[in-house]
Amino acid sequence: MKKRNETKAEVVLTGDRTTGKLHLGHYIGSLKNRVQMQHQYESFVMLADVQALTTHFNSPDQLRHHVRQITLDYLAAGIRPEKCTIFIQSLIPEIAELTVFYSMFVTVNTLRHNPTIKSEAKEKGYKDLYYGFLGYPISQAADITFCKATLVPVGEDQLPHIEQTRRIVRRFNQLYKPILTMPRALVGEVPRLVGLDGKAKMSKSLGNAIALDATFAQVQESLKGAVTDPARIRKSSPGYPEICPVFSYHQAFAAESADEIAQGCRFAKLGCVECKERVARRINELLDPMRATRAEYDARPSLVDDILQTGTAKARSVAKRTMQEVRDAMEISYF
Ligand code: SF4
Repeated sequence: MKKRNETKAEVVLTGDRTTGKLHLGHYIGSLKNRVQMQHQYESFVMLADVQALTTHFNSPDQLRHHVRQITLDYLAAGIRPEKCTIFIQSLIPEIAELTVFYSMFVTVNTLRHNPTIKSEAKEKGYKDLYYGFLGYPISQAADITFCKATLVPVGEDQLPHIEQTRRIVRRFNQLYKPILTMPRALVGEVPRLVGLDGKAKMSKSLGNAIALDATFAQVQESLKGAVTDPARIRKSSPGYPEICPVFSYHQAFAAESADEIAQGCRFAKLGCVECKERVARRINELLDPMRATRAEYDARPSLVDDILQTGTAKARSVAKRTMQEVRDAMEISYF
């Protein structure tokens, strides 16, 4: 029988903090790519409920709901449980164990100077840092190394975390035995999708997103309210599509007609109302099959439970194997 990693050369880990439903920004930025990668690589997708607690520790009652909703988002978008191991982070205690072991040789100053931690702490207005929040990069190293991931698709802002994981792997392998696999970051080429307000990237907490489970009418309504080129007050004024969020949706969801849209806008032949209706139609065409798949799974909750339990059991058995290797390397296998 073939062992894992002998069948597919690369192991990919992706995941999402379970803080809310996924939206179109997630789809364009990562989900679409994951759906393709599941056919090429051994793929793990983590529902990061522990990492959700780094910022949502006061509302754990929400996690259960979000885990379920995000799983439905995955399945609807085309993640296939037979191709991809979908698992729940908190049910893999070895990840927590690895986090503790790695934290012995990572200094507080290293974490404090991590640019992503610094900017997120500033954004959240933290005067003092929660231990779990500060240790996020260590916990992420444990996620990546338990399954010996070789590729980790990330956005630019997550690069410092991957670099931290690489330092942990290097240090562990030097200190004990070279058993951990060095991961590589796979930086997405797709620019982040801007939100409906045109001010920041699409984000549920900013209220500027279109959820993957949005209804037909919700998509139309959201687009109606989207910010456009602010200088274009009437159809007869030429517009600047390059500064218009709606145009960036055309580029993301209807690339083949984006040039025609840009021309129509620049030469004042296309009005914003029609432009928005056109992209809403394209987004609804994309979401329609997802809605159908989602409804099928939603109607079978025990099947979704089964998918999560099977994926988590598989991830756990991989984690146990790695943990044993880690203990052996550190010479703390007692019996
Ligand atoms: S026509 Fe389209 S691209 Fe041009 S400003 Fe209006 S919404 Fe934006």
